[in-house]
Amino acid sequence: MKMPNGATAPMTQFINDTQNKFQIVWDLGRRCTYACSYCPPHRNNKFSPLATYDDLVKTMDFVADYVGMYEEYRKVPYRNKTLSFTGGEPTIHNSFFKFARYVNETYPDFTVSMTTNGAFSERVAQECLEILTGGTVSYHPESTPAMKKLVIKNIITLSKNLWRTNVMFHKDYFDECVDVCKQLDEAGVDYTPRRIGDDGGAQWSIDKGYTHVYTEEQEAWFDNYFGASDAKEGRMCCGGRRFCTSTSNASTFLPSTNFKGWSCGVNWYFLFLNSEIRQIYTHQTCGVNLKGKVGPIGSFEDTEQILEELETQLFVEKKLPVITCPKDFCGCGMCIDKAETPALFADVLKPKINELELDYVPEYTGDDHVSVSKIMKSLDNDNKET
Ligand code: SF4
Ligand code: SF4
Repeated sequence: MKMPNGATAPMTQFINDTQNKFQIVWDLGRRCTYACSYCPPHRNNKFSPLATYDDLVKTMDFVADYVGMYEEYRKVPYRNKTLSFTGGEPTIHNSFFKFARYVNETYPDFTVSMTTNGAFSERVAQECLEILTGGTVSYHPESTPAMKKLVIKNIITLSKNLWRTNVMFHKDYFDECVDVCKQLDEAGVDYTPRRIGDDGGAQWSIDKGYTHVYTEEQEAWFDNYFGASDAKEGRMCCGGRRFCTSTSNASTFLPSTNFKGWSCGVNWYFLFLNSEIRQIYTHQTCGVNLKGKVGPIGSFEDTEQILEELETQLFVEKKLPVITCPKDFCGCGMCIDKAETPALFADVLKPKINELELDYVPEYTGDDHVSVSKIMKSLDNDNKET
């Protein structure tokens, strides 16, 4: 395996991103048209204020400036810059499509996609096709028969533009979900059957109905669909990114995702915004900021300051702090530039960026991390993990 400087690297001591894309995930807030029983209150409600058009535009202008500063330092511009909107339900914002049009017209180098429940009219489905680059539609079974029929119609419409589809396999609507899969098969739509629950099977989550436990027969259906699990350790890149490691030039799977103590370039590839709590992070699940701890890089009210600090670091001081990973599990930031030692990280990053002093932040050992999920869960008075 060749290192960026031509030397030969030992086993899996670095990851070298080959996609060169900047991904922005923007959670528009909890407000949703549905109220799925498996969705905790910190992920949906009927009362959170909707972000205004002016606020969305102002924040987007910040995003473009922020990404632009990193891009100016890259030897090769980002291949693409993707904006993915989530919620709650993005389309509940009455100015969402007007805003998406603003992004298309003002920042044509950004693509706009969303994750949605698909519970909207056929006219809105057409707007999705015209204005957005793509997205993911999830079929949720706890809705009216008429709305579910419309959602299936919308899924088929959107699939023509390569939107992805999830079918949320509710244990009490299992047969219905199997039937939806059959309808999608007949319509030639690719889809992913999704189990309910992402709390690692915790009992408190099962008790609250956020994680479903399936019958033997239902488990057999999953086994039949996915193939009996030969549960490998490690994980795939969830965004399908390819990257170089010491053992492969085009990998999408890593046997271990513990990079504690490694130097990491997550800030060169990701940004996460949460309109509900008005906080901005480098990445939704990683959350490590340039001080090396899990916490926001600032709030929606601090955007000027975030830009000023970044501008000073990059263009005046010509140096940038480099994160030393404080975590023992890396989620979807696993695929981007990182290395076991600062020297190796410099070898990975320096061919990609203009001359810049890499200023390595020591590994943060405090325990006062403030993750997105911690802030969001604190919004639920009755949802404490016990
Ligand atoms: S559609 Fe999605 S965000 Fe809305 S309640 Fe259901 S799971 Fe939660
Ligand atoms: S958890 Fe964050 S800092 Fe650690 S390796 Fe993953 S992306 Fe990098």
